[in-house]
Amino acid sequence: MKTAVVTGGSSGIGKAIAERLRKDGHQVAVFDLNPSGEELEYKVDVSDPQQVAAAFAQVREELGPVTILVNGAGLELYKRFKNIDYATWQKVLDVNLGGVFHCVQAALPDMVDAGWGRIVNISSSSAQSGQQFMSAYVSAKAAVNGLTKSLALEYGPDGITVNAVPPGFVDTPMLRRSESKGLLGGTIEDHIERTPVRRAGRPEDIAAACAFLISEEAGYITGQILGVNGGRNT
Ligand code: NAP
Repeated sequence: MKTAVVTGGSSGIGKAIAERLRKDGHQVAVFDLNPSGEELEYKVDVSDPQQVAAAFAQVREELGPVTILVNGAGLELYKRFKNIDYATWQKVLDVNLGGVFHCVQAALPDMVDAGWGRIVNISSSSAQSGQQFMSAYVSAKAAVNGLTKSLALEYGPDGITVNAVPPGFVDTPMLRRSESKGLLGGTIEDHIERTPVRRAGRPEDIAAACAFLISEEAGYITGQILGVNGGRNT
């Protein structure tokens, strides 16, 4: 049994990942802005390094060294580029990219000590294709893909694999919010028509990919960007 931290694990994709890792026999601590009150959920803003460090220290004390980290917390912003003020741009980068930075820095010492670790970063298919009105978010997620590759090279010798899963069109509260605000460029049904496998993704689809990348048998897979998107971005 290993100890995992899943950020953004109170909702949508992160929640499904936490459930899947529990089913696979791991102890799972969830970090989220608004925890649902379940056991082992910690209130943490991943963009705040002090909160992240304190939460990791608590998990280490309660559950032991953290050798699995899934960075799922994410913040979207839909805005025409010329209307984004720099503070808002920075906030989106602080959560989506800075959050990964802080959590990886906090988790690495345990993984290096163990000579084994698994890091999976949930980026976004929009980083592959670009996305109008989402330049800040897409920039952060593209940087997460780059960070993933660099960390894979740096920490492979320590027995740590680092991969990214960029979801595309997964039915979660985030996607439903975008649909209700008219930001999807059509309804979810319209998008299903345009998706090669003719359905929306499920959070469990992303969780299955993460579970594989975390498994022992995926030890030779690192620095990869494993798209889970129904064929929308090939
Ligand atoms: P979601 O249901 O909104 O879940 C995201 C979770 O992250 C929420 O619980 C949210 O808390 C939490 N969070 C946001 N900012 C945080 C912060 N600063 N510190 C800690 N937690 C924070 O969205 P989702 O669709 O499952 O998205 C999960 C991940 O997949 C995100 O990284 C997202 O960018 C990525 N993604 C999703 C899709 C998709 O189709 N759904 C596509 C591409 C990428 P609150 O709700 O309390 O704010």
